[in-house]
Amino acid sequence: MARYTGPVCKLCRREKTKLFLKGTRCESPKCPIEKGRPPPGEHGRGRVRESEYLLQLREKQKAKRFYGLLEKQFRGYYTEAARSKGVTGEELMRICESRLDNIVYRSGLAMNRSMGRQLVTHGHFQVNGRKVNIPSYRVKPGDIVEVRGRSKSVGRIIENASYAAGRTIPDWLTSDLKQLRVEVRDLPERAQIDAPVQEQLIVEYYSK
Ligand code: SF4
Repeated sequence: MARYTGPVCKLCRREKTKLFLKGTRCESPKCPIEKGRPPPGEHGRGRVRESEYLLQLREKQKAKRFYGLLEKQFRGYYTEAARSKGVTGEELMRICESRLDNIVYRSGLAMNRSMGRQLVTHGHFQVNGRKVNIPSYRVKPGDIVEVRGRSKSVGRIIENASYAAGRTIPDWLTSDLKQLRVEVRDLPERAQIDAPVQEQLIVEYYSK
């Protein structure tokens, strides 16, 4: 299935929660969730019987949309998490957080993950001194993510960095917005990830 290119606020309305897919608008009263807009569609305002399966499905969809992932990728991450020694749900979240497009967003160098993805694809970033243009690239503790030489004058990146000066950067990252540089101090524990997701429901969904 192709990547979703429609109106992103609709996705938040569908999941009835803020997924922060836009940028400044997400923090403003203009956000449709802040305005209390109902889920899209003819039956958006209607009452739906929330079966166990529906709750699990919605949670999985919410996580995918939050991180901007396709089903195949997300399922692959679940399989990897299930094989790991840690708690599957927590590992799944940690894998999603370690993607390069997420790091670019979390560090304040992009307004949302989709922009992070685009900036990475356009070759504006390097990891440990080597150019990386793969948004799904996974960082490790100790990695240094930087804007590459010429890209340091790209207006959009500079604007993002100046806007991010007022944003909270997760404590597992050290972001130097003047130097357009981020250090991954460690991969996050679940408590350090502010994703509005109950990962246990996702595990239940896939382990059927
Ligand atoms: Fe739109 Fe952002 Fe609000 Fe989601 S959180 S509905 S993307 S403005």
